[in-house]
Amino acid sequence: PASRTFHSLKAPLLLPPPDAAISAASYILYLRRNSHFPDSSIAVIDSTSGNRLSYGELIHRAETLAANLATVFKLSKPHTALVLSPNIIQVPILCFALLSLGVVVSAANPLSTRSELRRLFHLSKPAIVFAVTSIAEKTREFHVQTVLLDSPEFDALTQTKIQPRSPLASTTPVTQSDVAAILYSSGTTGKVKGVMLTHHNLTAVVAGYDTIRTKRAEPAVYLYTVPYFHVYGFTFSLGAMVLSETVVIMERFSLRAMLSAAERFKVTQITVVPALVVAVTKDCVTDGYDLTSLEGIVCGGAPLRKETDEAFKAKFPNVLVMQGYGLTESCITRTTPEEANRVGTVGRLIPDIEAKIVNPKTGKAMFPGEKGELWIKGPYVMKGYVDDPEATAATLVNGWLRTGDLCYFDNDGFLYVVDRLKELIKYKGYQVAPAELEELLLSHPHIIEAAVIPYPDKEAGEVPMAFVVRQPQSSLGAAEVIDFVAKQVTPYKKIRRVAFVDSIPKNASGKILRKELSKVALSRL
Ligand code: AMP
Repeated sequence: PASRTFHSLKAPLLLPPPDAAISAASYILYLRRNSHFPDSSIAVIDSTSGNRLSYGELIHRAETLAANLATVFKLSKPHTALVLSPNIIQVPILCFALLSLGVVVSAANPLSTRSELRRLFHLSKPAIVFAVTSIAEKTREFHVQTVLLDSPEFDALTQTKIQPRSPLASTTPVTQSDVAAILYSSGTTGKVKGVMLTHHNLTAVVAGYDTIRTKRAEPAVYLYTVPYFHVYGFTFSLGAMVLSETVVIMERFSLRAMLSAAERFKVTQITVVPALVVAVTKDCVTDGYDLTSLEGIVCGGAPLRKETDEAFKAKFPNVLVMQGYGLTESCITRTTPEEANRVGTVGRLIPDIEAKIVNPKTGKAMFPGEKGELWIKGPYVMKGYVDDPEATAATLVNGWLRTGDLCYFDNDGFLYVVDRLKELIKYKGYQVAPAELEELLLSHPHIIEAAVIPYPDKEAGEVPMAFVVRQPQSSLGAAEVIDFVAKQVTPYKKIRRVAFVDSIPKNASGKILRKELSKVALSRL
């Protein structure tokens, strides 16, 4: 008989126990011993400058930096470091150094505005900030020591160990249950929260990479269009170290720069969000670029529409489309190359995951083919949200993580993401929390009520749309509303559509009926 719990069909991982005294960084070095490739293989290439770093150099620099951070900056567990940077070559060095010291890596968008930064500082309480010059000026008001990543001083810290003047204080060892990283997500509702991922979580992720090692003559060359500060880029970069993949990074994204980097560095895989798949399937955009080295794309972060997937496969019949699905709070699936040709599924569960599909109304677990909220358990599931026991308790129920996604499994264990039950908006794979924009809208003197919902968009997937109730006699226009919010948020969070209404539909307890608003929005199409 069909079961109501779903288990990974992949072999279980060999993981250290959750209380073992080993960091995710040490575990990566341990797994790297399975690599067929020498330490001279290239770890990172900066696509703009062409600068490159071998694995030997990356690890040596990270170790040198870790020693200096411990002696000069007195950093150790359980300090937190806030990292505000685009994808530059210094970031993987820094993250590996911090992880090996047991210093929590809190990575966030370098385009964050002052008010967004205020929330990040409040949540992560960093002992130190590592930032690129362009944002460092904005962090001054928080009076936390800031190291400029794009400075000769930082470079020097990665190259020469500075002799400590006094003997080192003894530090406690890093254990698997310690928090390794804080990444940001609004979860199923409300404002941005700090997701605590432990060394055990990251160890499970990298151990999973070790199981997908394939025999290759040369290392795979991955072009990252996803940022290191998002869980997607963050976990991929750690996995890359295990498999000795070469990672090509772009400080600033443009479609042309991506295509010419793919050609120039003979890229074999590109990590993308669906919006980018839409862009490359358009007529002519790839004309004139030699993409013959490309073996596959890995797509995740948001739903890939069936038509987009098919259009891509028609245009690039020799390129595999592998999907990955997960949340900041946990990795969940990834299709293998053998499974890549199935359309519509995000793949099967990665090792050690147990899942159930829960009917949101009855709370009952469902059979294959039936839709409900996906709940998962496993070593990848976050420890909780920073200083937010309420949100943690609502999301982690008896060890199960509620994903807030409406899904179903087929009889072969393939997962399909149908819809989102939670409030989240995904603009080109980036998270936009409606609650954050609603709070901003309500701070406008002419706005009495506001609700923000996802509005379907061919290119971006979804765009934030605001429903606004104005003060009587107010002549506030849509452009003013858009401009008011745009000044206060990172560009991807901008409101892109506005509708003025007389009231916002709410249920008896005052909760905004978002699905009802979506229907109204779509009826206006
Ligand atoms: P984030 O925490 O930013 O990774 O956002 C996680 C959410 O993005 C998930 O809960 C899904 O709603 C959505 N998502 C991520 N990957 C996929 C995917 N491959 N297909 C459909 N939705 C996805």
